[in-house]
Amino acid sequence: MSDTDPTTATDDTLRTPIVAVLGHVDHGKTSLLDKIRGSAVTAGESGAITQHIGATAVPLDVISEIAGDLVDPTDFDLPGLLFIDTPGHHSFSTLRSRGGALADIAILVVDVNDGFQPQTLEAIDILKRTQTPFIVAANKIDTVPGWNPNEGQPVQQTMDAQSDRVQSDLNEKLYEIIGELSDNGFSADMYWRVQNFQANIGVVPVSAETSEGIPDLLTVMMGLSQRYMKEEMEIDTSGPGVGTVLEVKDTQGFGTTLDAIIYDGTIRNDDTIVVGGLQGPIVTDVRALLRPRPLEEIRTEQEFEQVEQVAAADGVKIAAPELGDAMAGAPIRVIRNRDRKEVIAEVEEELAEIEVTTQEEGVVIKADTLGSLEALSSTLEEEEIPVMRAEVGAVAPRDVRVAETAGEPTNQAILAFSVEVLDDARDLAEQEDVELFEDDVIYQLVESYDDHVTAIEEAQQ
Ligand code: GDP
Repeated sequence: MSDTDPTTATDDTLRTPIVAVLGHVDHGKTSLLDKIRGSAVTAGESGAITQHIGATAVPLDVISEIAGDLVDPTDFDLPGLLFIDTPGHHSFSTLRSRGGALADIAILVVDVNDGFQPQTLEAIDILKRTQTPFIVAANKIDTVPGWNPNEGQPVQQTMDAQSDRVQSDLNEKLYEIIGELSDNGFSADMYWRVQNFQANIGVVPVSAETSEGIPDLLTVMMGLSQRYMKEEMEIDTSGPGVGTVLEVKDTQGFGTTLDAIIYDGTIRNDDTIVVGGLQGPIVTDVRALLRPRPLEEIRTEQEFEQVEQVAAADGVKIAAPELGDAMAGAPIRVIRNRDRKEVIAEVEEELAEIEVTTQEEGVVIKADTLGSLEALSSTLEEEEIPVMRAEVGAVAPRDVRVAETAGEPTNQAILAFSVEVLDDARDLAEQEDVELFEDDVIYQLVESYDDHVTAIEEAQQ
């Protein structure tokens, strides 16, 4: 399959493709990811599975162990697959890279019994818009009445071994999914009939319960990635690193840190980086690059170990000064041998795509994705409610500290859209009289805040 001269293969080594899992709630995204991780841990007993920040790397030899005869590792020059740990299209659309999607390829999970649902269609829209190649995992095949499980086996022979009744029931459901894909403008078929997975969507029947079809799913992912990465993604992993912030959080002993995915180049522990911040690009020096310790060592010392460098594609925790304003979903770029101004301008350009206007005084808003943050911010702008700080992520004590200093009493409020409020932030808000509003529906969130403002104004009269 590979046309690379084996003697030069190392120079041509492609970087690990980044894989995201999308689909409707309860269709099995989390279970499928857990099963892939679990199968990988079992197959890679020698300790081949390392923990990562925000993502799980499954190396090629472990994939070929799980997939058995289906994957011949010598056919591939990919190091493996990197699965983003947070499933769902909210995280998918937050995780941008240069305006596109951070993930190179995606798995769209569809429950065979439930078929296409609203979030399946939303996910399809996002995949279309970002032009992300994907395959469909038709999940929960084990729930077809009369199914005779065949734990962890490739799915085609498992399907052949079922009774005629079960086979026809399952086929009917699978063809409904293929029909839905075609209604949405995709040519799709059962994966074993697809030749070119970029032109045609392959449907892989799987069970996240019994692991049936997971060997096939990984095989198809490898085939799709190999072709896609080769044609679209020749990347020099030794160049200056480029990445995306997953989360901004405090790490004991390191202050404010970034959980990040590096999708291009390499980041080193002595690099100067530019990070997207609320007030614009932040230029800072890396103090440490951190990785979770291997499981058995965790109990002995601190949870993280320092590493010298991290090459794409991989997750890493970055410790550096001045990260207080950094935003989840924002870009990270290493300067190294590049022109400082040019790199800052690139980050500025990427930030300009994130349209959230803030003022000197106003409320604090938090949302689960940059997309929802933009939506919430524009609703507030229409209602002339000023925003002082807008950020993606859970409500943390530092948000309360900001809200406390927000000027007018009506501004001492945090509007949290579809995000968690950390316990210590909730306690602090109560103590400092900062009002917390939480909702998963934007207009309801804004409505409760409006009611609060009316109450304050009435009390003042
Ligand atoms: P998510 O919301 O898409 O992440 O869905 P989950 O992974 O949380 O799964 C929702 C429910 O479906 C859970 O109760 C799972 O145990 C169950 N489930 C997921 N995959 C399968 C499957 O392949 N077979 C069966 N029988 N149940 C499944």
